[in-house]
This record gives sequence, structure tokens and C-alpha cells, in this order.
Amino acid sequence: MDYCSKSSCNPSSAFDCLLFDLDDTLYSSKLGIAEALRKNIDEFLVEKCGFPENKAPSHRVELFKSYGSSLAGLRALGYDIDADDYHSFVHGRLPYDLIKPDSQLRNLLRSITQRKIIFTNSDRNHAIMALKQLGIEDCFDQIICFETMNPNLSKSTSPDEFPVLLKPSVDAMKVALRVADVDPRRTLFLDDNVRNVAAGKALGLRTALVGKTARSKEADYVLEHIHNLAQVIPEIWVGGTESGDQRISRPGSEMDAILSPTTVGA
Ligand SMILES: [Mg+2]
Repeated sequence: MDYCSKSSCNPSSAFDCLLFDLDDTLYSSKLGIAEALRKNIDEFLVEKCGFPENKAPSHRVELFKSYGSSLAGLRALGYDIDADDYHSFVHGRLPYDLIKPDSQLRNLLRSITQRKIIFTNSDRNHAIMALKQLGIEDCFDQIICFETMNPNLSKSTSPDEFPVLLKPSVDAMKVALRVADVDPRRTLFLDDNVRNVAAGKALGLRTALVGKTARSKEADYVLEHIHNLAQVIPEIWVGGTESGDQRISRPGSEMDAILSPTTVGA
């Protein structure tokens, strides 16, 4: 395990900690996982909730827009859906073999000495499966996930007793920041969702929008692909931009090694 101590291992950097979203951030939205997820949710809405088959996609979109996720929406509307049942139905049947090991990403993550935390709305089983498929499950200090933000859900006696908390809800973000125990001003939050990035910015985080070419208003950085991290945000490795004269140059060969797609031994 490449754990770093809780304090920054790179005091010359602008960041003490990096919070990474997982789905569509650490792997591409075009692999087919997101598509399979949508299909599984539609099937759940039909088989478990009784929605007509031809209405399921539009209900899914509406639930996502209004409540942040289908599960959150269903529970808010009074459906007594068990979160574990929901996650095993929609995530447990995903074609995980579409996610391939990413040695370039692994190299990149292993070159970052600061704390690295996964911050995902997905459940822990899904996060671990996806990270294992990518070959980066040992690159993070902590996983903040659905269960972290919703610790009391399994104890609820009615669906509306504990509303489901997920990004971009400010309450969910606050739970994550408290659990991570980080200084938002020195924490970089990377996510593919514009609304999540905006919520992170509102709480004082430094923000990077991933998987897009145009920067949203609340994003400090935009990366078309997570592999571009070193080119777009070199201050992760070197002195912070605010400190100007503290910028440390990095030998080209060392940076080349970070960017190289070769496999690094565990
Ligand atoms: Mg995402």
C-alpha cells in the first residue's frame, strides 16, 4: 500500500489532499458501464417498482434531475427500497470486465505523495470492483462512498426517515469533508459532474472538471481525460501557484516517467 501520512507529504505543493470521483472520472463514460447502469436502473423501476416499461427511462431521468439519484428519488417518493438490494441489482450486474487495467493512471497516482481519497456516490462494493478492474485499488488512502454519507439508512423504519444524501447536496459534501478531515482550500476535488464541481467550489474546495473540454464557471481546471492531470495541474507535484518563488522544477525524465504508460510494479 502506498499510504501517505495524514499530513501533506509534499509541503511545497498547493494541495495536501486530492478527492477523486470514480465513475466517468477515473474511467471513461464511453466504456459501456454508464449505459449498462441506465439499463439496470430502468429494469429496477419496472421489476421492483411497477413502472411501465416504456416510461422507465423518462422516470429515471426525472428522478436523477429532481433528487440526484433514482434511489434517493424513489425513497423520497415513499418507495421502501433497501439500498443494498438496489445497489446489488443496478451495480452488482454491471459488465465490470469492460473496465481494463490502466497502468498510465496507476503511474500517475503513485507519483502523487499527498493523500488520495475516492469520493463517490456509488456503494462501496461497486467502488472496490471498479478500482480493482482499473488496477488502482491500492492507490488510495480512503473511500468515501454511499455508505459513508448514509450511515443510518439501514436503521430507518420508513423511507422518508433519513433522506438519501449524495453529491451535489451540500450536506453530503460536508459529511465527506468531515470524514476526510481536510482543509478545503488545500484540497483538489476532481469530478466529471458540473453540479458536483459547483457544490465543491461553494464549500471552498479547489475544483477540476474531468472529461470535458470547456471549463464550467466553478471549475478551477478542466481536464479532457484524467491522464492529462500532470499537464493541466503540475502544481500538484511542484510549488503552489500562490507561492510563486517556491515553484520547484522537476527533471524531465522524472515527469516523463509519471506520464509513461508503462506498468509500475506494485
Ligand atoms: Mg462521476
